[in-house]
Parts: sequence; structure tokens; C-alpha cells
Amino acid sequence: MTPAKKPAAGASRNPKRDVSRDPKDYCIATIGSHSALQILKGARDEGVPNLAICKRGTEGVYKSFGVADEILIVDDWSEWDKKVEPELLKRNAIIIPHGSFISNMGHAKVQNMKAMYYGTKEILEWESNRTMERKWLLDADILMPRVFEKPEDIDCPVIVKFHGAGGGFGYFVVRNAEQFYEVKNRKYPEENDFTIQEYIIGVPLYIHYFFSPIIGELEIMSFDKRYESNADSIGRIKAEDQLAAKIHTSYTIVGNIPIVVRESMLPEFFAMGERVIAASRRLHNTTTGGKLTKGLFGPFCLETIVTRKLQTFVFEISARIVAGTNPFIEGSPYTALKYDVPMSTGRRIARDIKQAIEGGKLEKVLG
Ligand code: AMP
Repeated sequence: MTPAKKPAAGASRNPKRDVSRDPKDYCIATIGSHSALQILKGARDEGVPNLAICKRGTEGVYKSFGVADEILIVDDWSEWDKKVEPELLKRNAIIIPHGSFISNMGHAKVQNMKAMYYGTKEILEWESNRTMERKWLLDADILMPRVFEKPEDIDCPVIVKFHGAGGGFGYFVVRNAEQFYEVKNRKYPEENDFTIQEYIIGVPLYIHYFFSPIIGELEIMSFDKRYESNADSIGRIKAEDQLAAKIHTSYTIVGNIPIVVRESMLPEFFAMGERVIAASRRLHNTTTGGKLTKGLFGPFCLETIVTRKLQTFVFEISARIVAGTNPFIEGSPYTALKYDVPMSTGRRIARDIKQAIEGGKLEKVLG
């Protein structure tokens, strides 16, 4: 045990927080969905107790795979404050955010959570605010698709993304303003919150990074591409049938497929990750009035399209674990090079937390 640091404000904190250097006095908690299986398994592999918080009806999955030490069942996410948070505080739990966690909770709720939270909370807002996300990535000298302010400006193939659209549903591709209005007015007359982005011809590639503030090192964990319906099914029928059936391309995500990249591209991918982290610290410093410079850490993903000239365009960043890391519960070809145990991103998070606890540096990984 280390000498007790004076507990920060917030009397509801478990008194063991800030004092114990034993990972067993803590708990890694997450919502049962998205990438929870690898997060829970990763915690167990690193010897940190875990907790799955499941909406009633989904708990069977976590029981079946046997990865959860404890399962807490809720009927509705509105029970979070009264039912879940007290349980988290009691267990000294550290929440691991993932895509479903953020969409269930919303940013405001995440900001006000009293339970410990792995990652920088402010960054979740930047990634969901397209203007801020763009500012961040451009400041990091990242190549991005052009954005068109209004349909009349369209002068190349574009992808139209509705902000409410979950997981690529409702996106459409057009070449000019006339085509834009034809699709928009016919299919989405009420929707006015959208982005018009240059459509980049190339292959999608999702780069999974991990940056540990404990060892101060950027790692590439793995790569994936998404299995999207019906973008990935259109090629199964011939062009004239596609036209006859009037099929519109949609990008609803169904699953993830592992990828290994040309080795000569790795230096650029590492450099991109480093620049994104450096820019996040500058931005964090500005947005918190110079009070905080933690910036981005933990798992994150650059969502890219790589062209035939091998230019890498980033169309989005996810500042947390992505479901594309799920094929690598037993590790990836890249983590196999670096680690002598199967290292998933979920396990890498647990190891970061464990090292932070043992080193008395837990605050370094909490947002
Ligand atoms: P998103 O919901 O932004 O992750 O995008 C869903 C899918 O749309 C991606 O997996 C890509 O296949 C495709 N996509 C998104 N933006 C672009 C773009 N600018 N150019 C080409 N394809 C894109």
C-alpha cells in the first residue's frame, strides 16, 4: 500500500481509490455490447476483477462465454444513476467506454459520472462534433476528404452522411446537386443535418492504435475493414441487375474482417498516430484553458480510405476502442510480434490500468 494521497473532492468515492496498489481492489466495468467480450476477457487475463452491465435480455451472451465475473442487469439505461453508479462506486470500478456505451449514455451523462472512467472524457465530444474533429485532424496534418458546404458546390462524387444515421445507414453517393436533391427529397425530406464529403475511391482501412500514458509509447494493435450491407453485397450481382433493381449503396455495419497491410506503409501509419496524439494535447490544452494536457490516450482508430496512389485519407476518428478490434481477441500478427501472450486491445487496456494501479499512477489513465 502506498501512503494515502488526499482524496479528491467527491465524498461518494470508494475510500480505497487513490490508495490501493492492488489491482484486485478495483474492477473493470463495461456495458454488455460492442467490444465487451474482449474487454472482460482482457481484464480477467490481467487479473483485474470485471463487471458486465447488461440490458435485460442480453446477459445470456456474457454468461455463455463465461468471461464476466459479475453481471449487473438493468431494465433501462435510465436506471444508471440510481442502480448502476452506486454499484460501480462500491466496487471501485473503472468504466471502459465503447461505441454502445457512448450511444446509450450520451456525452452529458458521461461528463457527470462519478465512477472512475478510462480515457479523456472531453475527447468524446470532439469526435462527435464534426467541426471539431476536422479541426483536430487537420491540425495533425492528416489528409481528409473535402467537405462541401452546400449541394450546389458538389463537383465530384460525394458521400452524403446524415448525422442521426447509425452505423452508415442512409448514406448515399451522388455526383452533383441535381442528384443530391433527387435522393434527398425523395428519401429523406425531413433530414437537414448532414455532411457532404468527397467520395474517395480506394479501399477502406481501419487502423487500431493504442497509446499508453504509463509507458509513453504508441502501438499499432491491428487493422480491419468492415463488412457492410449492402455495399459488400452489390458486387455479387451483375451491373445491369443492380441498375434494374435500383439498389442504393448503404453501409450498415454487420461485422469486421482482419487485414494485414503492406509493411512499407507502417512508418506513415505510426507517424499519423503520433501527430494525432500531439494535436489532441494542443487542443485539450486550449479547450480546458491550459488546465489539462492529457489529450488522447488508450485505444483509438483512424478510419481511412487508401487510394491506388497509396494516399491515406482519414474520414473519421474514434477516440476509444472500436469493434474492429474484435477479431483479435487472441492477438493480431502485430501484437504477436511485441507480446509473448495473446494481446487483444481489451487486454491492453486492462494492462495499462493494472500498471497504473501498481505504479500509484491511476489518475494518469482516468478522465
Ligand atoms: P462511417 O459511418 O463514416 O464510418 O462510414 C461508413 C462507410 O462509408 C465506411 O466504412 C466507408 O466504406 C464509407 N465511407 C465513409 N466516408 C467515405 C468517403 N469519404 N469516401 C469513401 N467511402 C467512405
